[in-house]
Amino acid sequence: MKEIVTRFAPSPTGYMHIGNLRTALYSYLIARHSGGKFILRIEDTDRERFVAGAEKVIIDTLHTIGLTYDEGPDIGGPAGPYRQSERKDIYTHYAKMLIDKGCAYYCFCGKEEKQTDNGNFAAYNGHCRNLTQAEIDENLAAGKPYVIRFKMPRDGETTYHDNVFGDITVENNTMYDLILIKSDGFPTYNFAHVIDDHLMNVNTVVRGSEYITSTPQYVQIYRAFGWDLPEYYHLPLIMGKNEDGSVSKLSKRHGSVTFADMVANGYLPEAILNYIVMLGWHPKDEREIFSLNDLVEIFDPADIRKSSAIFDYDKLKWLNAKYLTNMTTSEFGIVAQPFIEKVLTHEVANFDALLRLLQPRVQILSEIPEKIEFFQALPEFDINLLENSKKKTTLENAKTILKNALEKLNTVDSWNNDTLFNVLNALAEELGIKSMSVMWVIRLAVSGNVVTVGGATEIMEVLGKAESIARMATTLERL
Ligand code: GLU
Repeated sequence: MKEIVTRFAPSPTGYMHIGNLRTALYSYLIARHSGGKFILRIEDTDRERFVAGAEKVIIDTLHTIGLTYDEGPDIGGPAGPYRQSERKDIYTHYAKMLIDKGCAYYCFCGKEEKQTDNGNFAAYNGHCRNLTQAEIDENLAAGKPYVIRFKMPRDGETTYHDNVFGDITVENNTMYDLILIKSDGFPTYNFAHVIDDHLMNVNTVVRGSEYITSTPQYVQIYRAFGWDLPEYYHLPLIMGKNEDGSVSKLSKRHGSVTFADMVANGYLPEAILNYIVMLGWHPKDEREIFSLNDLVEIFDPADIRKSSAIFDYDKLKWLNAKYLTNMTTSEFGIVAQPFIEKVLTHEVANFDALLRLLQPRVQILSEIPEKIEFFQALPEFDINLLENSKKKTTLENAKTILKNALEKLNTVDSWNNDTLFNVLNALAEELGIKSMSVMWVIRLAVSGNVVTVGGATEIMEVLGKAESIARMATTLERL
């Protein structure tokens, strides 16, 4: 069997969208699963849309999630360069070859139809399709600007097989004479990617389903050259859930849709990757947690589905939480640190206790700052909150609780959750007050919050003895 060669061919927009990332992942998995090759190619021929630093975003993202490529712009390879903007002469050469074969022509009309993002293009009336050689030579000699167009067959139909969507057929008279080379000398995506895929030996093309209906035109280019067609995998659309329950193409209003935004929001790259693979593919069993290596082993492209995938943030959060809880405390500390530093400018007494408190209680890391703000300083709070009928507390017994707790706690040496818990329980018994009343008063006294991450004694463990006692004393003074 021949070696499978796939590629990821992003246009450098400055972002790595979820859809792009999935394309990269599936291309990578199809190649690696079969022991084949994976190539990175930068499709930067649209100079008007050039974004500085965009290539770095792509490369950094692939590195972060572990999608290593065998050939690419930064590492080179036998079919390089791997940036289309550096391959201009190659495309010109092949476009001229098509002219010589009678499959393409110079067009001097001066109208460059706008090519849409998904490779579709507007009609062209074919005016220059049948210019005489004399007319062409005259125009060229006069230095008239031109584009090079493909001479699309007018009759019949074009069919190709897509491994996900099946046979796709388009009537040839609905296809236009697409531009191969623009007047600025740069190729269009339509042409460049065909040439590159051929020269880079790419035999398996994986990309978004927006290219399904334009692919017959690319098939015609392959045929004009007499080249073998690649295998095609067009991937299903990714939809987002709207507030009213309907779905529409995934976009910003559904939440963060770029890799960088998701990471900034506290999703782990491993969890994102694990989630994204499910958008259009399902393993044969019910497993849900996969590392990249697991996926390389089990990914069968025959299981790619054609029905649209729905991006479900709740599911992603659930998965992210799984990854967080599976970490060791110190691993969690590393990923949580930047989010902790957003609100804590000084160290808490027991950082490990803080991590243990947070780890099982956050789904995404961006939930951290809000949860831990009160560790920075005791916030001002309404002292009347100490009085709570459900917890059976009054301002009067709160005062008693705090006074006595301070006395007891002053003598505690091993300041940890268990000891503190026992001390306060014993105190409750001694005072003939319910334990929940004691815990309520003390939790509020040290946190200033009605809802907190963790209970009174867990919070005190994080704060340490001096700070806990100082906070309780401050609260007592207010009574
Ligand atoms: N540059 C195209 C894109 O980013 C690539 C499409 C393809 O993979 O052929 O959409």
